[in-house]
Amino acid sequence: MFDKILIANRGEIALRILRAAKELGIATVAVHSTADADAMHVKLADESVCIGPPAARDSYLNIPALLAACEITGAEAIHPGYGFLSENARFAEICEEHDIAFIGPSAEHIRIMGDKIEAKRTAARLGIPCVPGSEGGVTDDAAAMKIARDIGFPVLVKAAAGGGGRGMKVARTPDDLSNALSTARLEAKAAFGDDAVYLEKYLEKPRHIEIQVLGDGQGGAIHLGERDCSLQRRHQKVWEESPSPALNDHQREAIGETVARAMRELRYSGAGTIEFLYEDGQFYFIEMNTRIQVEHPVSEMVTGIDLVNEQIKVAAGGKLTLAQSDVRFNGHAIECRVNAEHPSTFRPSPGRITYFHPPGGLGVRVDSAVYQGYAIPPNYDSLVGKLIVHGRTRTEAMMRLRRALDEFIVDGVETTLPLFRTLVRNHDIQNGDYDIHWLEKFLANGGMQA
Ligand code: ADP
Repeated sequence: MFDKILIANRGEIALRILRAAKELGIATVAVHSTADADAMHVKLADESVCIGPPAARDSYLNIPALLAACEITGAEAIHPGYGFLSENARFAEICEEHDIAFIGPSAEHIRIMGDKIEAKRTAARLGIPCVPGSEGGVTDDAAAMKIARDIGFPVLVKAAAGGGGRGMKVARTPDDLSNALSTARLEAKAAFGDDAVYLEKYLEKPRHIEIQVLGDGQGGAIHLGERDCSLQRRHQKVWEESPSPALNDHQREAIGETVARAMRELRYSGAGTIEFLYEDGQFYFIEMNTRIQVEHPVSEMVTGIDLVNEQIKVAAGGKLTLAQSDVRFNGHAIECRVNAEHPSTFRPSPGRITYFHPPGGLGVRVDSAVYQGYAIPPNYDSLVGKLIVHGRTRTEAMMRLRRALDEFIVDGVETTLPLFRTLVRNHDIQNGDYDIHWLEKFLANGGMQA
C-alpha cells in the first residue's frame, strides 16, 4: 500500500479522495492554485503545495508542477479525481515514466475510451450492445447520406473527441444532414482540435442508464449496478439515482453481467462507468468514462462499497477482494448536484457564502468542500455540493430528499436548490417517469417560472 498520495484536484472530489486515503492510513498531499489557498482540501490535507495561478491550464493541468510537487513531498501516487487530467492518457503515461502510480486505468484504456469511435468499436467487440450508426468516422457527405438512410432518420452527428455534449447535432431529415455535419465538424474542431465525426441513430425518448464497474487489471471485474442520470440540462447531469425506476432486477443483472464480463476480458483496472441510452427495453452503449464520476456516491449508498478506497487498493497492485456475490443492493439513493447558479436562468453565481447550513439526519450525505465564509472562485465549476439521500425504498428516499432540501441553507450566492425543491414535488419525478429530454422541456415550458 502507498504511504502518501497526491490529490491532483480541488473541491468536493479532492475532499472525497482525502477521506478515503485517511481511512486507509495514507498521508495526503493537496495541490492548489493561488485562487484556492483557502480551500477546504488544502486545510484538511497533511501537506499542501501551491502549483500555480488560478487558470486551470497553469495549475491543475500543469503536469511539470504536479510532478515537482510529488518529488518535493515524496508522494508515490496521484489520484486525478474527475475532470482536469483524469482522462488524459499522456498524463497517465508520464506518471508511469516517473515511477508515480496513476490511480486509474492504464493509459491504453484511457486512450481507447477517449476516442468515441474507437470506444464503440471496442465495446461492440466485447459484446456490449451499441447504438446503430456508422462504422467509424464519416468524412464524405455522400457516404454519410447513404449511412443515414440505412440507419433511418433522425440521426445524430457526434464528435469522435466529444465530451460535455459538444459537437453533437441532430439531423431530423435528409435535408438537415449536410448542415449538421458541417456544424458538428466546426464545433468539434474548435472544442477538441479534431473534426472527426460519426453518425448514430437519434433516440427520441431514451433514459440515460450507466453501469458502475471496478476492475483490478488482473482479470477480476465486478459491477455495482446502475445509475439513472436521465435528468439532464444541456447534456449535463443534474439528478442521479440508483436503482433506475425503469429497470427490474433481471434487467439489472443481465446488463451488469454483460459489462462485467467485458471488463474482465479487457483486463480493465480501477473504477469506470459504461454509459448507455435505454429505450424500449434495449440498452445502447454511448461511451465509457475511465475515472471516478461525480455521481458515484449513489452507488456507494446502495452497495455500501467505498469506490475511492477500492480505486486506491487496486492501483497499489492489489487484486479485487470483492466478488460479484459480495455486492448486495440495498434500498434507493438519489443525488442532487447543487450548483452556485441562478435556479431558472442557470447564470453562474460565484461569491462569498455568508451562511451555510447543510442538512443531516438518517440517510443524508453531503459531499461538499464549501464552508461559511468561503468564497467560491469564478475560475472553476460552480458545484456547491452534492446532496445524497438513501432510503429503504424510492418513496422513502424521495420523502427524505424533500425534507433534506428544505433544511439546506446556502446564503450569499444563488443556488439551484429551488430547482430541486420543485423537482422533488413534481408528479412525473415522483413516479420515476422521465427521459433525457424531460428536464429541458420542463424548463422550456416555464416549470421554474411558476
Ligand atoms: P458527451 O461525452 O459529450 O457527454 P455522450 O455520448 O455521453 O456525450 O452523450 C451525452 C448525452 O447526449 C447523453 O446522455 C444523451 O442525453 C445525449 N445523446 C447521446 N447520444 C445520443 C443518441 N444516439 N440519441 C439521443 N441522444 C443522445
